[in-house]
Amino acid sequence: MIEVANLSKEYGQRRAVQDLTFQVSPGEVYALLGPNGAGKTTTLRILSTLIRPTKGRAKVAGFDVAREPLEVRRRLGLVNGGMRVYDRLTGREVLRFFAGFYGLEGQAFQEALDWVADLLEMEETLERRVLEMSTGMRQKVVIARAILHRPPVLLLDEATAGLDVFARRALLNFVKAYRQLGNAIIYSTHVMSEAEEVADRVSFLHQGRLVYEGSKEEALALGEGSLEEAFVR
Ligand code: ATP
Repeated sequence: MIEVANLSKEYGQRRAVQDLTFQVSPGEVYALLGPNGAGKTTTLRILSTLIRPTKGRAKVAGFDVAREPLEVRRRLGLVNGGMRVYDRLTGREVLRFFAGFYGLEGQAFQEALDWVADLLEMEETLERRVLEMSTGMRQKVVIARAILHRPPVLLLDEATAGLDVFARRALLNFVKAYRQLGNAIIYSTHVMSEAEEVADRVSFLHQGRLVYEGSKEEALALGEGSLEEAFVR
């Protein structure tokens, strides 16, 4: 469902991502770990067609991110920071705006909205303007916007940042349930316990390179039962 081959991204002399190769299958959660600046966000931004790779190729649901960006965008949801642009809209208006891109209107939009509102407990958030939202409320809108059209590929970049314990739990449960439906998910996080809970496979980036990839069980064995032991200590 996600295919990355020899992918590189350079910013001048700085190599953000170097010769990255990995695949994520339908029904799999792939944890992307690594320290600040390792290249995780860059990788997810390439996959979601926000930036172009310098070298290599990436495909999402069979479509090339550089050559067929519209097809790719229709099939993926991205959760990352930054919702400032739509300050004056309410949560509901933001979601209606994005739903329009996916042809979700009228009854279909209402059903999608009811589904995400229930899932993320965000009824109140829907009525509030983004400007007046808390960090966590804004993050719920970002998550809702990413999953509204039920994409087969979901890219989560620090998705639980700012969420309260209830919303965090709801998101982790959602990730596990969504994977069961055959969707492919990349879960990028600094929170090792979250990766331990949701991941099927674990990878570790360092200075733009993939320095480790293995099943979660293998990674856990490496750290005698703990991903933190495996990668941090
Ligand atoms: P973090 O955990 O801190 O979010 P990350 O693993 O997501 O880190 P990236 O944001 O992908 O890391 O950054 C990888 C490298 O690329 C870093 O050295 C970063 O400074 C650099 N970089 C990212 N975006 C740009 C840009 N627009 N211009 C120049 N350098 C950039």
